[in-house]
Amino acid sequence: MVNKIAAGEIVIAPANALKEMLENSIDAKSSSIEISVKDGGLKELTITDNGSGISKDDLPILCERFTTSKISKFEDLNSIATYGFRGEALASISHIAHLTVVTKTKNDVCAYKCHYSDGKLVPARPKESSDPKPIAGKDGTQISVVDLFYNVPSRLRTLKSPSEEYSKILDVVGRYAVHTEKVGFSCKKIGETFNSLTVRNGLNHKERIRSVFGSNVAKELMEIKIIPNEEYGLLKCYGYVTNSNFVNKKSIQPLFFINNRLVSNDPLRRGILQIYSIYLPKGHKPFIYLSLEIDPKNVDVNVHPTKREVRFLNEEEIIEHIVNGIETELSSLDSNRTFLTQQVLSGSKRFRGDNDITDTRPNKIKDTSTPKLTNISQLQQFKRVSENKLVRTDFNQQTLNSFVHNASSMKDESNVVDEISDIQIGSERILSDLPSDNDLTGSSNITQSNTTRNSRTRVKVKLTSILSSREKVEKRTDRELTEIFTKHTFVGIVDFTRRLMCIQYNVKLYLVDFASICYELFYQIGLSDFSNFGIINLGTPLSLRNLIYEVIDDQNFSSKEKIEKGEVGEVIETLVEMSDMLEEYFSIKIESEGIDESEPKISSLPMLLKNYVPPLSKLSFFVYKLAVQIDWGDETSCLTGILRQIALLYIPECLPDISEFEEGSEEYQELISTQTKITSDLENIVLPCIKKRFLGTKNISRDVVEIANLPGLYKVFERC
Ligand code: ADP
Ligand code: MG
Repeated sequence: MVNKIAAGEIVIAPANALKEMLENSIDAKSSSIEISVKDGGLKELTITDNGSGISKDDLPILCERFTTSKISKFEDLNSIATYGFRGEALASISHIAHLTVVTKTKNDVCAYKCHYSDGKLVPARPKESSDPKPIAGKDGTQISVVDLFYNVPSRLRTLKSPSEEYSKILDVVGRYAVHTEKVGFSCKKIGETFNSLTVRNGLNHKERIRSVFGSNVAKELMEIKIIPNEEYGLLKCYGYVTNSNFVNKKSIQPLFFINNRLVSNDPLRRGILQIYSIYLPKGHKPFIYLSLEIDPKNVDVNVHPTKREVRFLNEEEIIEHIVNGIETELSSLDSNRTFLTQQVLSGSKRFRGDNDITDTRPNKIKDTSTPKLTNISQLQQFKRVSENKLVRTDFNQQTLNSFVHNASSMKDESNVVDEISDIQIGSERILSDLPSDNDLTGSSNITQSNTTRNSRTRVKVKLTSILSSREKVEKRTDRELTEIFTKHTFVGIVDFTRRLMCIQYNVKLYLVDFASICYELFYQIGLSDFSNFGIINLGTPLSLRNLIYEVIDDQNFSSKEKIEKGEVGEVIETLVEMSDMLEEYFSIKIESEGIDESEPKISSLPMLLKNYVPPLSKLSFFVYKLAVQIDWGDETSCLTGILRQIALLYIPECLPDISEFEEGSEEYQELISTQTKITSDLENIVLPCIKKRFLGTKNISRDVVEIANLPGLYKVFERC
């Protein structure tokens, strides 16, 4: 009885039994493994291999549980660790099914057939002998599992339909077939002529992936070879993953093999998907196949009864190492560091929101979103601007600041011509031309920075307007606020409509208006990276006129400065006139040449923060404001005005109240996924940047409210 229960825990579906048997056949050095299945494996599951076979002497104990007699046969106890040996699989299966084994080693003259139940040899028919019976047969082993779960009705009830169980079986076979080179696999339903899956033994990994997952996957594969890290116990790591051209909505669970066992490892999966979220359109999933060899003594296979979820020592370090390796591959697809990034707009409904809110914030953040932009190409490209394009143009030439700041040299690069401003007011942080998060040099990704470093230098900003605006921000800096942000811990988003989050610092909890903090952050980044932004390419350039019309047509938008359609031509003309300046200083590219000269288009935006895409639902508003609100006549107000519009664009969008949506509806789902995206961007990209470089300025002090301190809270609880 106990055995039966334990067995039911290890084998929860036919596919689990098959996985164990596949592993046995592979361990037995087979070069061909055939599987045939009846009723999703419930009626019959037969696996035939041409491996070493099982010697006659071992047959009586084949289905015994991990006994001393069994373990003594292992000269090398290490193999227990290596293969996660538990000597349990066949024993377990024999407690919940009828097992028939036919096997022949190459030293035996004939094959032997025997039957098992509840761990022991049993006769084929009552009164016959249970001893293995000599019969004719080929080298190798055939194991049939018949009537699985015949004595576990509760398990039978929880199983899915035979066809679903069959697809789980196919899935396991396919995964092992991808991983296990030099072995041919086939799987079919009993009674059908054709195999559901065939992988010939001569194929390499890539061809195996094509056979199993199709050529859509196979044609976008990149080979991954991760440098081993013996210190952490990572002895080998290679595999194949799809590149950023692979668009695919249905999720394929990653294929992870650790020491040749198919496993899951959730942290690794999440780590990899996280980087893909930057390279793939929203909702699209990569294909991932990775094989890891990890020092067996570091692997703990016993976390889960079915041995799926596997843990290992130094997991965090190893995962980071692997994830970095994959990211390097993904980003090196284009030597100029081209990112393919998510489809932020493309036909999907965006949320109305900002328009409906009467904004009472002191610094008037009204980054009004408009809904339903269409047709930005599926993949936006990120490109680092190439420095030789940064030629000074005539704009504001006369106001270039002529005095030279104290220069301090860059650490290691002789070709970096930067001078670093040494203004330091009230804080060790400054808004200068220091390399920032956007820089490849600041990236944790060594390969990336090495390849690109030589070719780029930062442009030193000498415009008084920018320098004095930086100074102004630095003067407003409040030490305590800065400290809170530097050392905070993110607790969570409290309200997506009012854009409030909760952070902890020391023993205090603060409610923070993150729209306002982001606004200030992106303004500060704008000031310090001025003239040095990366580029977000919009893929398909968008007509300025259409974008502006969209705002004019928006019923929810009313403003004193609302212009008429008749005035649009004129403001576009101004933008075109300013396009050299916009491109040089702000990486905003306006195209007005070519076939469609009369229809100027915007084709790129500044990249303020690596891996962060501003909510492009606000793009039309951004363009509108740029066209209508900038005072082009005055250097300071023009440049800071544009920086402020960019900062507004970059604030996470304001989402509608979720309670107004029907649970489960498409809009509801989309809202949830946008919420998740905002949270993860905030937590993983924006807040880490805030920790590093944000200056807590006095103007935001009203947006950071202490709501509780822990000692106080403890007191409350003590009273209860
Ligand atoms: P484990 O694989 O953990 O040893 P199993 O119950 O899966 O435990 O298998 C018990 C033993 O039976 C294996 O160690 C192996 O020696 C032998 N065995 C099982 N299947 C095969 C096979 N297809 N070919 C050769 N030997 C096998
Ligand atoms: Mg086994």
